[in-house]
Amino acid sequence: MQIITNPDQMQSWSMEQRCAGKRLALVPTMGYFHEGHTSLMTWAKSKADFLMVSLFVNPTQFGPREDLRQYPRDVDRDTRIAEDLGVDVLFMPRAEDMFSPSHAVWIDAPSLCRGLCAVQRPTHFRGVATVVAKLFMLTSPTLAVFGEKDWQQLAVIRRMVQDLNIPVEIRSRPTVRESDGLAMSSRNVNLDPAERAQASALYEGLRQVEQWVGDGETEASLLLAALGEFYARKMPLGRVEYMAVVEPELLYPLEEVSGTALVAVAVQFKGARLIDNILMNAQGQ
Ligand code: AMP
Repeated sequence: MQIITNPDQMQSWSMEQRCAGKRLALVPTMGYFHEGHTSLMTWAKSKADFLMVSLFVNPTQFGPREDLRQYPRDVDRDTRIAEDLGVDVLFMPRAEDMFSPSHAVWIDAPSLCRGLCAVQRPTHFRGVATVVAKLFMLTSPTLAVFGEKDWQQLAVIRRMVQDLNIPVEIRSRPTVRESDGLAMSSRNVNLDPAERAQASALYEGLRQVEQWVGDGETEASLLLAALGEFYARKMPLGRVEYMAVVEPELLYPLEEVSGTALVAVAVQFKGARLIDNILMNAQGQ
């Protein structure tokens, strides 16, 4: 496995491979690998000649009061995991080489950032879109693979690629979960044991909504009210930041669950902020 830290070197390597006709897959990450990450890597590897993984804790997607400094890191362990998985290039640029003090150009998707995570994190997706665009420029991927856990991020990236004619295929993979249903996340290690025990209710509640929809209840406001009660009962240590029913691509709020709808939630615990979502298909119900 090659470890590349220099952006120019990364760009030359990837352009050389593309010119030689190779298919390159990119999995962008912030590290502290878990099975969610490795599932993307294993899948991406099967789709390309070379697998590139970027490991970059992007400062521009963290707000001033967010957990940039507490974000878990273990580069040695990540390097071993990547090597064992057969990653061809691990790209680990330094923050100062990615964002100079005079950085001035940003990519924004305001219509996708009116709700969900963007309400509490107003500059988050601008940081994500900009860094992902930069990573695409530096790694020239044929395809890039993202997790469905971060659904709003995926929607922003899909739109960015379409609207800016970026020649990369975006593929998504399902959320990998712990045995009790909690979506795997690097931030889970920052939960204390009591919070961790309650955190499984996040997904349990989403499954409940699925059940209620299956039973014939389709009014979003009623579903969300019932979900709120479920969380208040099962997750007293968590503060619900949002619960929403939205159209899955453009993310506008839906009043009814009919056809496909995304139910998305965020909960703030003392140790970590967690997000999750479930895609519903109410057709024929
Ligand atoms: P992160 O390191 O958290 O920025 O995540 C890097 C990539 O892994 C993103 O595309 C995430 O959506 C994806 N990812 C994170 N957690 C999971 C999970 N539990 N299952 C599947 N993909 C995930």
